[in-house]
Amino acid sequence: MAGKKILITGATGQVARPVAEALAKDNEVWCLGRFGDATAERELTDQGMHTRRWDMATDGLGGLPDDFTHVLHSAVHRGDGTDFEDAVAVNSVATGRLMTHCRRAESFLYVSTGAIYASQGLDHHYTETDPLGGRAPWLPTYPVGKLATEGTVRAFAATLGLPTTIARLNVAYGPYGHGGVPVLFYRQMLAGRPIEVPRGGQHLCSPIHTDDIARQVPLLWGAAGVPAQVVNWGGDETVGIRDLMAYVSEVTGTPAGFTEAEVTRETYAYDNTRRRALIGDCRVDWRTGVRRALAAHFPQLETSTPLS
Ligand code: NDP
Repeated sequence: MAGKKILITGATGQVARPVAEALAKDNEVWCLGRFGDATAERELTDQGMHTRRWDMATDGLGGLPDDFTHVLHSAVHRGDGTDFEDAVAVNSVATGRLMTHCRRAESFLYVSTGAIYASQGLDHHYTETDPLGGRAPWLPTYPVGKLATEGTVRAFAATLGLPTTIARLNVAYGPYGHGGVPVLFYRQMLAGRPIEVPRGGQHLCSPIHTDDIARQVPLLWGAAGVPAQVVNWGGDETVGIRDLMAYVSEVTGTPAGFTEAEVTRETYAYDNTRRRALIGDCRVDWRTGVRRALAAHFPQLETSTPLS
C-alpha cells in the first residue's frame, strides 16, 4: 500500500504500532491517542507520522483532517472490570464519532476480539456465526465494551455507507507493548508465579504475530464492505496455552508452573475458513514468532535455542 492517507487509533499499542510503522514507509500516517508515553509519541513522529491528541472518553475530532482514505481503529478502553456503562459508552460513542468524521474513507477496519464469543468448551474452534456473549471473568467490562462497539460499527457502516471490516483478533503477540500472552505469561514465570489453567485441560488459541497483522491490515481494508464484513483474525495454527508456555520454558530454561483454577485468562481457537478465503494464510509460524518476541523483549536472555 502506498500513497494513501491513513488514520490509526491505538498506535502506541501492541497491535497497531507495528502496523503504523510498516505503513508509514510509503503512506501519510496520522495517529490519534492520549500519548501518555511521550517516548512512544516521539518514536512515531521520528518516523514521519503525524500525531494528534484524542481521548476517546472526552474528545471530539474537530480540527482533524477528514480526507483519510483508510482508518484502523485499534484503541480500546477496556474498563475497570465493574463499570459497564463506562465501557459501553466510551468505546461506542468514540467509534461513532470516528466513523462519522471519516465517512468519506475508502474503508474502515475495527479491531474487535474473540472474547465476545460465548464460551463453548475447551476444544471448540469458533466461527463467526457462533453465539456471542463472552464473559471474561478476568475483566468483565472488556467483552461487553467490544460487543457494544461492534454494534456501533455495524450501524455506522450501514448508515454512512462506509465500507467496513470488523476483525475479531485472537492472541496477538510481537515485539511491542506488553508483547501479548506469551510474553505476559513468561514474565509471570520469571516472577515464579504459576500460570492458571482450567481444570482438566488447557485453553487453546490461534496466535498471530504482529508481522502478519501488519501485512494483513491492507488486505482487511480490501475486504471491507457494507454491511460490515465480520471475520475471525487469528493465526493458522491452533496452540494450547500449556503447550505454548512449555515451549517458552524449553527455549528459555525458565521453569513453567501451572495451577488449575476456576477463573483463568480464557483464550479460544478459531475456525479460520473465512479469513483464509478473504485474505489468505499467515506466514509466521508460532514457534519462530514466539522466539522472536522473546528476543525483542528480553535482549539479554541466554537460551538453549537461538531466539532469532
Ligand atoms: P494496548 O493496551 O497495547 O494499547 C491500547 C491502545 O488504546 C493504546 O494505544 C492507547 O493509546 C489506546 N487508548 C486506550 N484508551 C484510550 C483513550 N481513552 N483514548 C484514546 N486512546 C486510548 O492494546 P492492544 O494493542 O493489545 O490492543 C489493540 C486492539 O486489539 C484493541 O482494540 C483490543 O481490544 C484488540 N485485541 C487485542 C488482542 C491482543 O492480543 N493484544 C487480542 C484481541 C483483541 P494511548 O497510549 O495514547 O493512551
